[in-house]
Amino acid sequence: MPGIILKIGSGRNSKLTEPPIINGWSIRLVIAVIFFLFPSMIEAAELQTRYATIHYEHANQLQKLNRELVPSKNLVYLLQRHKIMTVNDEVAAKIDIIIEQVQIVLEMFPEKLRFEIMLYSTAAEAQEALFKRYRKKVNYISFYSRRENILYLSAQHGKLGVVAHELGHVVIEHYFNRSPPVKIHELMAQYAERHITD
Ligand SMILES: [Zn+2]
Repeated sequence: MPGIILKIGSGRNSKLTEPPIINGWSIRLVIAVIFFLFPSMIEAAELQTRYATIHYEHANQLQKLNRELVPSKNLVYLLQRHKIMTVNDEVAAKIDIIIEQVQIVLEMFPEKLRFEIMLYSTAAEAQEALFKRYRKKVNYISFYSRRENILYLSAQHGKLGVVAHELGHVVIEHYFNRSPPVKIHELMAQYAERHITD
């Protein structure tokens, strides 16, 4: 079964401090100028959807996910209500309609629903990122970290069933005040996966 819930690791604690001033120019401005001159240095980007922030490195990762994530008939109908001009719009709309449908399938409607997706090209890349973070070798194709509220997703494996399963974990985690046992979490996510096309 795709997906696993990780409970290890620590949250982000990057400290933001004011940049020093050099000859009246702030470091931030210098960096902005460098990035303006060499845009290839800043490829990492974010895509905001209604419920998620998707972090990715290259536009082709979004294209890959968009190709893999083929909506079922019931979802195509919902997708038509969204205004879609670009690949980014389409990916955002798909994630939003899938998580809305998962809520209907599970009959769970959390008051607050907000999470992050770390998007990678392949499962190997996602696993490498997780290894760097947790020092733990895993061989899953996608992971939802309950503790971090982050879904680690491989664009290559971004099939509807996989995404619905993982978004099931997201919904379940946000719905309950006290997180259900891992086995029950998994059973419910499998239920969401199985019934997403209903
Ligand atoms: Zn799972």
